[in-house]
Amino acid sequence: MKPARFAYHAPATVEEALALLTRYGGEAKLLAGGQSLMPLMNFRLARPAALIDLNAIASLAYIREDDGQIRFGAMTRQRAIEFSPLVWRRLPLLAEATALVGHLPIRTRGTIGGSLAHADPSAEYPAILAALDGVVVARGPRGERTLGASELFQSYLTTSLGPDEMLVEVRLPAMPAGAGFAFEEFSRRHGDFAIVGIAAMVIRQGDACTARLVTAGAGPVPTRLRQAEEILEREGLSDAAIEAAARRAAELVEPDTDIHASAAYRRNLTRVLTGRALRRAVGRLEGR
Ligand SMILES: Cc1cc2nc3c(=O)[nH]c(=O)nc-3n(C[C@H](O)[C@H](O)[C@H](O)COP(=O)(O)OP(=O)(O)OC[C@H]3O[C@@H](n4cnc5c(N)ncnc54)[C@H](O)[C@@H]3O)c2cc1C
Repeated sequence: MKPARFAYHAPATVEEALALLTRYGGEAKLLAGGQSLMPLMNFRLARPAALIDLNAIASLAYIREDDGQIRFGAMTRQRAIEFSPLVWRRLPLLAEATALVGHLPIRTRGTIGGSLAHADPSAEYPAILAALDGVVVARGPRGERTLGASELFQSYLTTSLGPDEMLVEVRLPAMPAGAGFAFEEFSRRHGDFAIVGIAAMVIRQGDACTARLVTAGAGPVPTRLRQAEEILEREGLSDAAIEAAARRAAELVEPDTDIHASAAYRRNLTRVLTGRALRRAVGRLEGR
């Protein structure tokens, strides 16, 4: 199918893009990699009056480290993230998760900003934003604001970004050196969206440990599994504690049934994948 008729703009600066957003008053869409937006337009599920193509705004594509944070311009391609030595060194959980996003040609076009703004509950990047306590920077006519994952993601494909705002930067704190981590997911075919995914990170602090567990695909927004994390922080990282945390994880999620899987199946996957992710994360923590 072909998209409905639309006007096309290719601004050279963020300011021009914002002025166009304001001019169209919610009737325009920003075009990043087009990997989600173009299929929606081709199926006529989205019919924007205009596309504001961000691909000519070179200043929106970068990866740099600044004061313990890794900053990504919104138009940074997923492929650039996947092959960035800085990301592998400072954010290995993000690097591992990126390799699970679709296929290489999709990652060559798809952007970090587009993925977060699209807010697909099964996508890897929203879970990573939550797991690493990152923020996005949104810019609009009233200036800039920073939003954490719980402020950004509202529901399926829905964020708190206003129609006149755009995402300009993503900031992720560098992971502590030596942290154990793993991103585990299950999808029907290689490259498909995950039915459920789990981001896990474990950090040792003397005799104690802290843990991070966040879901993808097990509800409308990424879910931080705090009570499962607490089991590990209280009981340690033994096999028994991992099993208990995985069982608790399955109780904490509220997945829906859809054409891909039932709620019960997603709940069971949450348990299985939490266990797998934690075992791999602990293995890395212990240098295995
Ligand atoms: C076959 C296939 C398999 C895929 N598998 C996966 C997968 O396994 N995991 C996964 O996470 N994704 C997957 N994707 C989606 C892909 O990763 C997209 O890159 C991503 O969802 C959207 O990024 P994009 O840059 O292409 O954004 P676009 O498609 O250009 O835009 C998506 C939405 O975000 C908005 N937007 C874009 N940039 C901004 C911005 N800076 N500020 C505000 N709003 C903005 C757009 O207006 C649009 O509404 C798949 C896609 C395909 C086609």
